[in-house]
Amino acid sequence: LERTQVINFNSGPCALPTSVLEEAAKGLINYKGTGIGLAELSHRSGYFGAIVNDLAALIRTQLDVPPTHEVLFTQGGATGQFSAVVLNLLARHRLLYPELTDEERVMDYVVTGNWSKKASEEATRLGGGVVNIVTDARTVSEDHKTFASIPPHGSFQFSKKPAFVYYCENETIDGVQFSTDPKSSASFPWEAIKEEDFVPVVGDYSSSFLSRPIPDIARHALIYAGAQKNLGPAGLTVLIVRKDCLVDTDAAAKLGAQPVPITMDWKVIHANNSLYNTPPMFAMYVSQLVLEHAQSLGGMPAITLMNERKKDILYEVLDEGAAKGLFRLRVHKDSRSWMNQTFHVLGEGKEELFLEQADKAGFKALAGHRSVGGVRVSLYNAISEEQTAVLVNFIREFIKQNAA
Ligand code: PLP
Repeated sequence: LERTQVINFNSGPCALPTSVLEEAAKGLINYKGTGIGLAELSHRSGYFGAIVNDLAALIRTQLDVPPTHEVLFTQGGATGQFSAVVLNLLARHRLLYPELTDEERVMDYVVTGNWSKKASEEATRLGGGVVNIVTDARTVSEDHKTFASIPPHGSFQFSKKPAFVYYCENETIDGVQFSTDPKSSASFPWEAIKEEDFVPVVGDYSSSFLSRPIPDIARHALIYAGAQKNLGPAGLTVLIVRKDCLVDTDAAAKLGAQPVPITMDWKVIHANNSLYNTPPMFAMYVSQLVLEHAQSLGGMPAITLMNERKKDILYEVLDEGAAKGLFRLRVHKDSRSWMNQTFHVLGEGKEELFLEQADKAGFKALAGHRSVGGVRVSLYNAISEEQTAVLVNFIREFIKQNAA
């Protein structure tokens, strides 16, 4: 098949703009007339240093990152940060409160889907503190098994002075996302976190990074994201860290905290301009090109509008199917993800039929995550409005043919 014959709705790694990949392919062979490919240059060269600085600057501009925060790059995926968050922020807590026992160091996890659940399990596994599940969205779903909405603010049980509060802004597997509207019942309950306590709040933004603005960056200790959705190829992890969270973890270890592996130590990454060890150069190069491309389309305001229209037309047709009894959408309206739309096709053999016909028509990777089944569309930045409309037409036709 040709690239133009398919639309790739994979949840990650996902589609990237074709023009960017064509340019990246040229740079991979011969970077800026050096006669050497990008992946063959020294990461200490001026050429690559410029990419690191430019990539950080582009992220800063597009997301309006405040001067209180550093933009850093590392490896190990988002999963690497499940561990790094625990180690760095427990070290910070140890430096601030050396007198506390491990049982008194509480890590608050807001569990709204499979990824935040997984992150909380890693915190339990690493120890050094205890995990408090602030809320578990499964307890408020109809079947008590699925993650179907952001729970009501009243159900969030934060602890008093936690080492940190952790949440996942967009749950890629379940399709549950916090709303950016502070008036929405699905917004993050910032009102429950006292600013004067300076509690570090950590947000996993892996699957919504750069899809729309992040309204409360300043209130976060860390926002992090694996690159492989809206940014670039896998292998790169972006950190936006508040400066007071870059702590001397060796000093904390002397007070009894767990030593932090050097490649996970945020202060070390920062002190070395994200070049402590050889970085994922190609992923960073492609990410730079993706952001330049995004800038040329009008930057965050244009991308936000485009993403909003895409998810609106898709949810509209899915709601039509639900009204006719053919679809069941998994997530409540106010908590629906812009990036990942999850639903089931009802009726004997209908879901298989939907996936089979979709695949034949060139719509790829629409099966839901293996742990939850169903159908999942992922409308990341590289999926255009036109491509979304083609899928919507297909779904409308499927409803016509299959609804009772
Ligand atoms: N967090 C979220 C929200 C994700 O979507 C993913 C992967 O899809 C991860 C974490 C894990 O990312 P990685 O595979 O980069 O470790």
